[in-house]
Amino acid sequence: MQIPIRQAFELLEQPPLTCMRKIATSFALVFLTLASVQLSAQSAASVTLVKAERLLDPRTGNVLTPAFVLIEGDKVKQVGSSSQIGVPSGAKIIDLGIATLLPGLIDSHTHLFLDIIVPPEAEMARHENGLFAPGMLLAMVESPTKRAFLGAQMAREDLESGITTVRNLGHSGVDGDTELRDAINAGRVPGPRILASARKLITRGSYVQNLNPALAEPILQQEFLLIEGTDRARAAVRQNEFQNVDVIKVTADDNLTVPELAAVVEEAHRQHLKVAVHAVDKTSIQTAIDAGADSIEHGNDSSDEQLRQMRDKGIFLDLTPTAYGGFFLKIMEPTIVLSAETRSSRVSSSARRDKQYKDFVQRVLKSGVKFAAGSDMCWFYPGNTRGQASTATFANLRDAGMPALDVIRAITIHAAEGLGWQDRIGTVEPGKFADLVAVSGDPLADITELERVRFVMKDGKVVRNDLTKP
Ligand SMILES: [Zn+2]
Repeated sequence: MQIPIRQAFELLEQPPLTCMRKIATSFALVFLTLASVQLSAQSAASVTLVKAERLLDPRTGNVLTPAFVLIEGDKVKQVGSSSQIGVPSGAKIIDLGIATLLPGLIDSHTHLFLDIIVPPEAEMARHENGLFAPGMLLAMVESPTKRAFLGAQMAREDLESGITTVRNLGHSGVDGDTELRDAINAGRVPGPRILASARKLITRGSYVQNLNPALAEPILQQEFLLIEGTDRARAAVRQNEFQNVDVIKVTADDNLTVPELAAVVEEAHRQHLKVAVHAVDKTSIQTAIDAGADSIEHGNDSSDEQLRQMRDKGIFLDLTPTAYGGFFLKIMEPTIVLSAETRSSRVSSSARRDKQYKDFVQRVLKSGVKFAAGSDMCWFYPGNTRGQASTATFANLRDAGMPALDVIRAITIHAAEGLGWQDRIGTVEPGKFADLVAVSGDPLADITELERVRFVMKDGKVVRNDLTKP
């Protein structure tokens, strides 16, 4: 490589025509040399063989046993039983013993830049949406640098629990999740693959009230882009496109009109971006369906007719069973002193909500609508990492009556399809990213195995391995 470069510079002192031709030849040589260096780098990509007793294929529910996954660089090259796989000499071998392998987990709905500590009862009572709003407001007005470090911590903790891809749907400031995505991809900090949405599109008044009027606009702009008419709706999408987002997140409420949301969808689709719409009540869900959203986030109050419409239009339902199983009591009790009154009202409201959610899950399963799942995690859960809190949420779906295989599909293959990344993640297949997790037991028999992931690989690199003794 050195000689052609030196020649190229020496040639600058020669007559112009000869000089130009020789320079061209010399640069061609440099490029050829560079190309061959790159080729040899590719052919020298690290090769790893991961062995385990079992590999669960979420697509079919079949278990391959024994299971061998050959990985070259960051991709899966071959999957099979030992006799089918030609292992090149020099391949690194990771033997996970009796473990069960699965594809890396996908959290379709999370908030890496929020970690809200539940406020005391009296504080909650003083605010609209007092459980959530004070913590969110603090995150919005504090240093974005401080927040960035929080996001990096949450991302690392998710990855350590086997979540190798997340879709971060809002609440990361102006550019928190797009920058964290790029930092992770560049190897600066560990974390899952991120589909970033930057600022959430909302109608005025959706999230925060009682702001200082003199500061309200700049504060809102830290976290949200306001939809006010179809023109501003389109402009909001373009502002997020400028931040290089992967997905557009919108919160639908009574104020959002179908034409406004349809303008968002049209503008986003023009740039091949999907639109994820937060919709909980029936009116918002209908707005999302009529405007052609790609996914409906939460969707808790969907009627059977609305589930049918989602199915017919191919709209993904992203289930978020976050509050199921008394979650809020679990995060409140170690943090704040609860009055007996609040405690008993939480217990009964939680039981009521669980019953409703069980009914919802059964109707979703019957409807044939495509569904994925997300943790919607944005809470500080004492004694748990972000990854532990998020994976515990997925297990809630099993408690709510969903068969274990469907739960696993909702956070692997179906989630990949919902994200539009079915060609790269969601199953352990040749050509896809080598994102793998392993658990000690059988996740089909005990879904809580997913809360105790013992081995994590992302991009062909081991993130965690508690199974193989060093
Ligand atoms: Zn959310």
